[in-house]
Amino acid sequence: MSCRFTSEGLILRVTRFRESDRFVRVLVPSGEVLELLARSVGKSVKRFGGGLEPLSLQLFDISQRRTTHVAEQAQHVNDYLALRGSLSRFYLASYGAERALQVAPCEGLFELMRALLDLLASTPDDSLDLLAAKCAFDMRLLAMAGFAPQLSDCAICGSPLPSQPLPLEPSGGGFMCGSHSEERSTLFQPGVRVLLRKLAECELGSLPGRRLPAEHRQPVARAVSHFLDEHLRGPLKSVKLLAAYL
Ligand SMILES: [Zn+2]
Repeated sequence: MSCRFTSEGLILRVTRFRESDRFVRVLVPSGEVLELLARSVGKSVKRFGGGLEPLSLQLFDISQRRTTHVAEQAQHVNDYLALRGSLSRFYLASYGAERALQVAPCEGLFELMRALLDLLASTPDDSLDLLAAKCAFDMRLLAMAGFAPQLSDCAICGSPLPSQPLPLEPSGGGFMCGSHSEERSTLFQPGVRVLLRKLAECELGSLPGRRLPAEHRQPVARAVSHFLDEHLRGPLKSVKLLAAYL
């Protein structure tokens, strides 16, 4: 018995399989990633009219037999063409796709990825702070994956964090009050913590026109990287490509 259903799907990765077949990994609204077999992609304009480009949103007609999902046809919902004209935006979107593959299944992930693509495809250059977009995306992703850093109370003893430079311990879950700091700990200014909290709470759609202040840009990025390296480590191709633009 097979069943048939339609679903929106955000294409995260496309892998060639035989001459004209493809395996397509798509993020669906439930926050799961489905692997779809798409047959004769290049040959059927009717079934896959616009092609199956990574980082496009499509409406898939899917048949399922046991654990195999077959994409019978697909219609474009949004190509996000604008982000394909800029390497930096394209790399950040690709980074998002790699992270999504890493943490799925995850409730809210589909909406987060859509918000990232909407932001990257529709914000003019002078209103887009790419580093802020990446850090906000990362903070939301960490929270969804169950690794939201502790930013208000000490990750060790739970006491409220004082407004002074404090150490960060990603493996312990966040910032610590001064009494647990070791000599070698890097200290972060209170302003960095405030920005991390704002990034964790903001909707990506509210970012156009907002920039991270110059003095805290690199410390904020470093703090976010510390958490990612601890909890979501993995070989991501896009990280190196993106580094040149941040
Ligand atoms: Zn403490």
